[in-house]
Amino acid sequence: MDYLPVFLNLRDRLVLVVGGGAVATRKVELLLKAHARVRVVAPRLHAELSLYRDAGRMEYLACEFAPQHFDGAVFAVAATDRTEVNHAVATAGATRGIFVNVVDDAAASSAIMPAIVDRSPLVVAIGSSGQSPTLARRVRAQLEALLPERLGDLARLAGDARERVQRALPDIEQRRRFWDRLFAGSIASKVFAGSTREAAALLDAELRTAAEGSRTTRGEVYLIGAGPGDPDLLTLRAMQLLQQCDVVLYDRLVSPAVLERVRRDAERIFVGKQSGRHRVTQERIHALLLEYAGRGLRVARLKGGDPFIFGRGGEELDLLRHAGIPVIVVPGITAALGAAASAALPLTQRGVAPSVSFVTATGTGAEDLDWRSLAAPLHTVVFYMGVAQLPRIVELLRAHGAQAERPAAIVEQATLPGQRVIAGCLGDICLQAQAAQVAAPALLIVGEVARRAAQSADLVQALLERGAVNA
Ligand code: SAH
Repeated sequence: MDYLPVFLNLRDRLVLVVGGGAVATRKVELLLKAHARVRVVAPRLHAELSLYRDAGRMEYLACEFAPQHFDGAVFAVAATDRTEVNHAVATAGATRGIFVNVVDDAAASSAIMPAIVDRSPLVVAIGSSGQSPTLARRVRAQLEALLPERLGDLARLAGDARERVQRALPDIEQRRRFWDRLFAGSIASKVFAGSTREAAALLDAELRTAAEGSRTTRGEVYLIGAGPGDPDLLTLRAMQLLQQCDVVLYDRLVSPAVLERVRRDAERIFVGKQSGRHRVTQERIHALLLEYAGRGLRVARLKGGDPFIFGRGGEELDLLRHAGIPVIVVPGITAALGAAASAALPLTQRGVAPSVSFVTATGTGAEDLDWRSLAAPLHTVVFYMGVAQLPRIVELLRAHGAQAERPAAIVEQATLPGQRVIAGCLGDICLQAQAAQVAAPALLIVGEVARRAAQSADLVQALLERGAVNA
């Protein structure tokens, strides 16, 4: 290791920045964020920097660099586009024993400013010892995605509780275990989900239990929407929780590609229900959730799409709440939205489709739907679980006033590699579906917006005929 990362406390300390361009601007902004006093030396100033000068937030010397500009400074940044000036700054700094960062010139620098992921008070610094700043920035981007936005809130919560924990748990080993559990469990998850007050209450409860010496570990459940299938459509929070769960209970609609993103050593349990012949009943799923969470494990309950759209997420939430098990709900992209995006069908559109409904027409529920409003001319309807019910849906819409010409489209395996879009109208969609042997999972989209499906199919056909696209 050629460089040792050190965090400098620059509050109210003077930092010299030589250069007045865009690069210098970024450094000045960073230094101001750290509450440093900043002296900028440059013949000319970038417009943004002039704003800081005008606001009195920095000292500005409109001249060429001279060694006496170091007076009073504890650190310096050389950010001009002239190598000889940058080197002069480095040399002057070395003579005075002051560390100098020369931007993009590791050889001339005695200090390197790392790429940072800022979750203040928690800050991650990434450096490549000057070998490749671009690589360091890439790693930063990856960490940005991995580290929860509210990590800083967690650090603050821990900071606030630190003395209380020290008093309640005098033994250092006991304390370490307490913090480890806290950062890996429901308290952290609650903070990340934005429920800081609930987290603080949980912390106090855990602290009391720990101080009494009882060792009950508390499990928790993450009710996660896995989206329509493409793993890149998982939310960042879903990814974070899938990386920390001990066990995952997943449905049939959760794609293998999504399962690939689950922590390697998490136990995977398939709890898919096959419509018609239920292999795993909802009661059995409830029992499994209680059993695993009861053992103190972190359970990811992974459901296709969004857990609260035709996913029985509400029932599982009630069950867990009732049992006093902490639950985090993570939304997912529901099939309708995934299909709309990947088939390029906006679900609402000014003047053409001012409203949209998501409905399911399976089972006895179909009778209770308000078919008249679903059949209304300027309305978009997305039917989930519609394939087997297709003839009935069409019949009911037609019976309530929808014309045979009303555009309709089926999106099968939306966002998955095998995605197909079948375009037609109420009058012919059943025949089309039969001819194409449509299978689950598929959605039926009815309404003016579905006309686009036919149009884009025509467009592809036209391009093919013109030889513009290879078949
Ligand atoms: N909670 C899920 C829906 C579960 S109901 C969600 O929010 O998406 C199951 C139905 O969703 C399927 O029968 C099908 O109609 C629809 N569906 C789920 N994934 C789909 C996909 N990738 N493509 C098309 N339809 C899908």
